[in-house]
Amino acid sequence: NETVSKNFIEQMIDKDIEEGYCHEVHTRFPPEPNGYLHIGHAKSILLNYGLAQKYGGKFNLRFDDTNPTKEKTEFVEAIQSDIEWLGADWEGRLFFASDYFDQMYEGAVKLIKKGKAYVSDLSAEQIREYRGTLTEPGKEDPYSTRSVEENLALFEDMKNGKFADGEKVLRARIDMASSNINMRDPVIYRVAHMTHHRTGDKWCIYPMYDYAHPIEDAIEGITHSICTLEFEDHRPLYNWVVEEVGKDMIPDKDEMPPRQIEFAKLYLTNVVTGKRYIKRLVEEGIVDGWDDPRLVSIAALRRRGFTPESIKMFVDLCGISKANSSVDYAMLEYCIREDLKLKKPRMMAILDPVKVVIDNYPEGQIEYLDVVNNLENEELGSRKVPFGREIYIDREDFMEEPPKKYFRMFPGNEVRLMNAYFVTCNSFVKDENGKVTEIHCTYDPASRGGNSPDGRKVKGTIQWVSAEKNVKAEIRLYENIVDEEKGVYNEDGSLNLNPNSLTVLKDCYVEENLADAKAYDSFQFVRQGFFCVDAKDSTPEHLVFNRIVSLKSSFKL
Ligand code: ATP
Ligand code: MG
Ligand code: MG
Repeated sequence: NETVSKNFIEQMIDKDIEEGYCHEVHTRFPPEPNGYLHIGHAKSILLNYGLAQKYGGKFNLRFDDTNPTKEKTEFVEAIQSDIEWLGADWEGRLFFASDYFDQMYEGAVKLIKKGKAYVSDLSAEQIREYRGTLTEPGKEDPYSTRSVEENLALFEDMKNGKFADGEKVLRARIDMASSNINMRDPVIYRVAHMTHHRTGDKWCIYPMYDYAHPIEDAIEGITHSICTLEFEDHRPLYNWVVEEVGKDMIPDKDEMPPRQIEFAKLYLTNVVTGKRYIKRLVEEGIVDGWDDPRLVSIAALRRRGFTPESIKMFVDLCGISKANSSVDYAMLEYCIREDLKLKKPRMMAILDPVKVVIDNYPEGQIEYLDVVNNLENEELGSRKVPFGREIYIDREDFMEEPPKKYFRMFPGNEVRLMNAYFVTCNSFVKDENGKVTEIHCTYDPASRGGNSPDGRKVKGTIQWVSAEKNVKAEIRLYENIVDEEKGVYNEDGSLNLNPNSLTVLKDCYVEENLADAKAYDSFQFVRQGFFCVDAKDSTPEHLVFNRIVSLKSSFKL
């Protein structure tokens, strides 16, 4: 049933179309360029872009740059590249709210002329006091009786820099007795002598979000202005601004005026997304920039090895709702596993190497074994993997004295070297600290490819990499940056950091076939998980892989 499977926003849009009210769906994503985008923004981007796609409409990217203190061109560029990477194509419709400052100013003048705005000398604190509370009505602003002429002159003086920051504001005259505090003569312009990243020093007055946003939407012909739940009780003000000034700015007079629709933010359990926390981690050098693979900015997820497809799958699974809730990070991991499992070759990598010598294998000989790239997807073909007398295996795949049910390598036991041969461990060498430095085996030449013609069974299969033909690599393993068990936040509000969030393994060996791996290439490493070439630190001479996710999951759909 199609109606049931539609989310509430689609149902609202359907109604607007059915009633002949909306002719072409037009959405936008309006980031403030004051930081990097994170997984929550991805939800908003894909939602807005997806709606435009679904209804054959348009999607705008608009920088909501009306607050010059925190905004930077660096963020404008980073945000564009993240959205592009996610696959949300704004097809040249890139806008800046600051381009509308003149129209916003004209709109304010019009409000003054209609008697619907006035200049006030109250301080921010007084305005808060006069505004009242939920249970107590607001009091009229003593400056609200100024004449239109006086207001026009004062507002112009505000624009011309005659007043200091905070000395005067422009307020919309709505209703000091309204049960909605947002409607009690909200401030719509303030004085701020600040340099804007695009308009420079042209302006020393800046519009407030609640006034600017509906105008931005109207000017661009946005029909459905989707925002998050905390703006729900700002909607009457949004509508007021559209009615009083926005309507006349809509390019297509027959199109519906913009309508605000709220949905619940995406929260990840135990994951830090707050800008101020991340900023501190970056500044204190605890993480390696906004794209550190332990973070959930879009740039970080990309560097970690997540794909746009996996993020889309995640956002779809979360669904669109009106109720705030929090989703487990394991669901994000589930999505990237699902996305990569059939697309990527399964290669061998040794993270904690110990050398194995196959005593009965001819010295100096190297043979190339045929290895299927992905047993579940034959389209990925096969590759040749070098094998010789000396190989590396993972230290955890050998035990001197194995417990019960340990089927990997131990003295006297026969195991399968994946895709290669059966080998039996005969002896091993330890250094003065008791650390195993070398293991000696013999192999069964008849078991080439990993099966014995006599049907003999072995229980353990382990991965390996040739000790003579390989690539040395650095591998980075990650855990949550915060300690989930003990709680994300300390009593003083700081983050409770997990000391083990990054493990760097410097002496790993990977298959020779990975020598040409490029930034963002990803692979499955047998039994270890999915890994991605680090885009910042990897070079052809020094490969660096990030573990995206391990193979095992407790997450079930
Ligand atoms: P800030 O006001 O601190 O900049 P912000 O994260 O809301 O916070 P914006 O740049 O204003 O940043 O957000 C751009 C768009 O992304 C907005 O439409 C907002 O509603 C949406 N958005 C932000 N965070 C989330 C989230 N966690 N889930 C879904 N949408 C989000
Ligand atoms: Mg933001
Ligand atoms: Mg914001």
